[in-house]
Amino acid sequence: MSCKIAVLAGDGIGPEIMLEAERVLACLQQAFGFAVEIERDLIGGAGLDRDGVPLPESTLRLAQAADAVLLGAVGGPKWELLEPRLRPEQGLLGIRQALGLFSNLRPAILFPQLADASSLKPELVAGLDLMIVRELTGGIYFGEPRGIEGETGARRGFNTLVYSESEIERIGRSAFDIAMRRGRRLCSVDKANVLESTMLWREVMTALGADYPEVELSHMYVDNAAMQLVRAPKQFDVIVTTNMFGDILSDCAAMLTGSIGMLPSASLDRAGKGLYEPVHGSAPDIAGQGLANPLAVLLSLAMMLRYSLDQAPLADQLEAAVGVVLDSGLRTADIAGQGEAVSTSEMGQAVVAQLRRQAEQV
Ligand code: NAD
Repeated sequence: MSCKIAVLAGDGIGPEIMLEAERVLACLQQAFGFAVEIERDLIGGAGLDRDGVPLPESTLRLAQAADAVLLGAVGGPKWELLEPRLRPEQGLLGIRQALGLFSNLRPAILFPQLADASSLKPELVAGLDLMIVRELTGGIYFGEPRGIEGETGARRGFNTLVYSESEIERIGRSAFDIAMRRGRRLCSVDKANVLESTMLWREVMTALGADYPEVELSHMYVDNAAMQLVRAPKQFDVIVTTNMFGDILSDCAAMLTGSIGMLPSASLDRAGKGLYEPVHGSAPDIAGQGLANPLAVLLSLAMMLRYSLDQAPLADQLEAAVGVVLDSGLRTADIAGQGEAVSTSEMGQAVVAQLRRQAEQV
């Protein structure tokens, strides 16, 4: 049975980096016998230009029918002045919502070769590999009631932090499943000393732990977790947390790595189907110049192989190939520092060449 992947390149550097992802997919097909079908469509500004909407009907149908979605990036100055419901980013929010993606996976990976790019001391971050699982569709960003009310000078702004047991259990299972595929250590981050909603969070996570005896579950308050992330980030394997805490902690963890062009992400539904995309945006300042780092989208593809397509050995191969290419000293401009830089396609082709070498050894 072959896997169906929907490829949505999007805008800006999206099409450039996606070309490299497709080269890698072709290599996995030819050299490793990976059975895959690829279909492409438009999203974001590209969707607006063709169909007048950021999420065309055909794109949504394609994404719904696929086993997984690989997305480049959306947005750019051309569409910035459109009314909010027509902005390219609405395409992204729309597809996440339509696919019911409630579990957001943001790894912070720092290849030892790039440890100098971090603002922390190299020995604290070299080889960092942690995963933050953020609840994406509930919590204070969506809770009702919300609003601003009252007379000027005496107004109140308010939001509601609410989680139901089923929402906590759903994200908890997603995180335990991920921990099972990694180092089997899960840290649940809450503020259970102050917030009732996260007292319930802690209770439900603890009860769930009984279903996953192989996973070592711990709990941490969010203020301590923020401190530990910059003090000793390598102590973590998987962190699971609420929408707002995850929003903040995942950006903090991402910056530990110091290189936005390297970071992948995934958003999963209950069945493990997912949308995979780099953390970075469409980088209009460098689009069309062959300067973009394609490794974030290649590492997003590796996540897709591992978490949605049940192809962990291929994910290992791809991640290993990226490591070897970095070992060889190849760098795109964003990670080159003062050194010499290669282009987007040179980096992509180097990964493909390394994958071919690895295939001969399998
Ligand atoms: P950005 O991530 O696009 O760029 C920030 C900086 O990082 C820029 O200097 C850019 O050149 C650099 N950069 C980003 N990706 C890179 C890569 N792969 N290789 C090398 N350098 C890279 O963020 P921004 O400039 O704030 O936003 C630009 C556009 O992207 C906006 O329209 C924004 O709304 C959109 N955006 C989209 C997404 C998404 O599609 N998921 C995420 C963030 C921003």
